[in-house]
Amino acid sequence: MRAQVLTAAGHPLAATELPAPHPGPQQLLIGVRACAVCRTDLHVVDGELPDPKLPLIPGHEIIGIVIEKGKSVDRFNLGDRVGVPWLGWTCGVCEYCTSGRENLCDRARFTGYQIDGGYAELTVADQRYCFAIERYGDVEAAPLMCAGLIGYRTLRMAGDARLIGIYGFGAAAHIVAQVMRHQGRRLFAFTRPGDAGAQEFARSLGAEWAGGSDEPPPELLDAALIFAPVGGLVPAALAATKKGGTVVSGGIHMSDIPSFPYRILWEERVLRSVANLTRRDAEEFLALAAEAGIRTETVTYPLADANRALADLRNGALQGAAVLIP
Ligand SMILES: [Zn+2]
Ligand SMILES: [Zn+2]
Repeated sequence: MRAQVLTAAGHPLAATELPAPHPGPQQLLIGVRACAVCRTDLHVVDGELPDPKLPLIPGHEIIGIVIEKGKSVDRFNLGDRVGVPWLGWTCGVCEYCTSGRENLCDRARFTGYQIDGGYAELTVADQRYCFAIERYGDVEAAPLMCAGLIGYRTLRMAGDARLIGIYGFGAAAHIVAQVMRHQGRRLFAFTRPGDAGAQEFARSLGAEWAGGSDEPPPELLDAALIFAPVGGLVPAALAATKKGGTVVSGGIHMSDIPSFPYRILWEERVLRSVANLTRRDAEEFLALAAEAGIRTETVTYPLADANRALADLRNGALQGAAVLIP
């Protein structure tokens, strides 16, 4: 099979011909139809996350067809269309797994990080962490698997906030904006200063106001969601948030947060992060996405152009989500 392989952090992916993987007892062999490119892939390729499997096939927003199954597989049949997310395996016995927080499992393994992912023609995945994909096309479903799932978990951590500011208007934000509109919430969008294209994109998805992250919003926020990996946005978001409001960081990696005066955190503002996803998040979100008629904006690239897709994401040169097609 053809695959794009990371051999060392900081190096471009290499087009490689590999033998087809064999599914273990609980695994599906999946013919990849589409794999979206997540900012986490950039962090892995750039060496900003510790200890990836090497060599590694990145990619954790996979949509494909089951073409072979392991002997214990009972949730899917040959020909089924499935989605494979970031959460690839959990231990089931640690204090997190047994308290509804498998996203924090001490021994969790992640697709496209410790497990080979979807930048390939074929992949194997544990059936217990895969989801049936109905209703959506392959390409439009792919960004739901992480941008959608993690975006949804991030939004959930904002509780019942009415007016929410989103910092960084990329793949996750463009999905969250539609969920917010469905839920009747108000949205302000903060982009890189001067990024008129992203601001227009945000307005087209229901943002009442869109401006640069260096601008104060016209009204204080009930909550803020940060999707851009820029630590300086944390004090900016706290300063833009009302008393008792919550600032949620949805990314896996961020540049250092600069020091800030205690008074912008005081008055019971909450600052928290989101890590990974649970299978329950995925089930809730996929049902909600269908009910809310969530659409994804995608830019497709052939698998062979994975490095170009990563570069475009790094440079903010695309709107919505990049999706690789093998
Ligand atoms: Zn566990
Ligand atoms: Zn991701």
